[in-house]
Amino acid sequence: MLIIVIYTKGDIMTYKTTYPYTGEVLQEYANATAEDLEKALTTGHALYKTWRGTPVSERAAILQKIADTIVAHKEELAKAMTYDMGKLLTEAEGEVDLCANIVSYYAQKGEEFMADKPLESPAGNAHYVKQSTGVIVAVEPWNFPLYQVVRVFAPNFIVGNPIILKHASICPKSAQLFADLVIEAGAPEGALTNLFIDYDLVAKAIHDPRVAGVCLTGSERGGAAVAKEAGEALKKSTLELGGNDAFIILDDADWDEVKAVAPGARLYNAGQVCTSSKRFIVLADKYDEFIDILKDAFSKAKVGDPMDPTTDVAPLSSKSAQEKLQKQVDTAVAGGATLVYSQDPVDGDGFFFQPTILTDITKDNPIYNQEMFGPVASVYKVNSEEEAIALANDSSYGLGNTIFSSDIDHAQRVAEQIETGMSFINSGWASLPELPFGGVKNSGYGRELSELGLNAFVNEHLIFEPTK
Ligand code: NAP
Repeated sequence: MLIIVIYTKGDIMTYKTTYPYTGEVLQEYANATAEDLEKALTTGHALYKTWRGTPVSERAAILQKIADTIVAHKEELAKAMTYDMGKLLTEAEGEVDLCANIVSYYAQKGEEFMADKPLESPAGNAHYVKQSTGVIVAVEPWNFPLYQVVRVFAPNFIVGNPIILKHASICPKSAQLFADLVIEAGAPEGALTNLFIDYDLVAKAIHDPRVAGVCLTGSERGGAAVAKEAGEALKKSTLELGGNDAFIILDDADWDEVKAVAPGARLYNAGQVCTSSKRFIVLADKYDEFIDILKDAFSKAKVGDPMDPTTDVAPLSSKSAQEKLQKQVDTAVAGGATLVYSQDPVDGDGFFFQPTILTDITKDNPIYNQEMFGPVASVYKVNSEEEAIALANDSSYGLGNTIFSSDIDHAQRVAEQIETGMSFINSGWASLPELPFGGVKNSGYGRELSELGLNAFVNEHLIFEPTK
């Protein structure tokens, strides 16, 4: 089935849904124009002013309706994501559930998070109030088309900051569907405006005085470009960028748990997760056993149709993602790495990538400090816990890590020595509404989710009356 809808406005077609399972272009969308941006800014700014005078409870009630609407449209939202970027429908359904929970969480906690904060001062009466700051530009990636938007939209809706969304050009269907559902649920126009804008218009928006800040989740390249504009315009920014997360197996790990968790920590979402475990760090005496565990699991992983509930690994999001990852694996091998496992190629025009295991990656291998965004596991052999910690920290990224140990105190002591924003003990990566998400080093700055995420674009307005 080939459906191509050409809209009349605009002329450059960069936003399109190309189904990664078949390579077919299902729908194209015209770029938004400077006039569309101006309209969104005007509407968003007017809403910001209106919201400054209305109670949080009103927005919390609407937000709960948005959560209910997400649940009611679960299948539609999940399928849109699968068509846009190829993820397993079962995983897309899980993403919708998580998003409904995030939206509900902020609906329920919003008033508490926005309450005035008393300050202790011997000099007088002091407190601060949390206030909105204006329109926020959200630049989001395709790997979790709904979740990435919701993480920013829900807390800012409570705060009273309208969002202009620039979503990834490969997931326009999911972007527009969610924006439409927000309005259908009863949110005022301008609360979330999805625009198919190009990079120049993103920069223009960031510089507009009605915009208070910008958040981006994506690559270092995209993050640096957007942060540069924000810096020049003196606007606040938050960045959620890539990761090269370590999965460290300590000497007292429970190997049944390791076996149950390790393969999924790499293969979930076809390995396209910023916090996927990408570098498995194993002590020498257990190294061969771990390789066998991973090989066995990867050989049983069924790569194929993302709509089929028995499929384990979906195609990658795009042809270019497939080509980039292949080039990285080739570079790793040319640089001395050993390809210890790769399945046979999958037939068809889909953007598949076989689960792959690389070893013997030395520090001088060009891939040593690169994120591989797909189902490729790198396994490292170390001789001590100290060496494992040093290797985990020898990365320009600092997003998350996983530590396996049957002694929780031991795991926590090691976790505290890893230079990342998040650590997961005896578990793969996790994201929940109440847990702050974000990294350090080249993985970005700022946090999303939890109360910390709600504070990202808040004005903590001090009100002080000195004692006479
Ligand atoms: P990307 O190329 O940076 O794209 C992300 C978003 O930024 C897209 O909407 C993209 O638009 C936009 N963009 C890129 N350059 C821009 C510019 N100069 N001006 C304005 N917008 C720009 O990232 P990606 O490679 O698709 O995404 C995968 C990366 O995201 C991985 O590194 C992954 O680890 C990271 N990620 C991080 C987190 C986290 O929370 N830390 C979560 C998920 C993903 P177009 O699509 O139009 O290019």
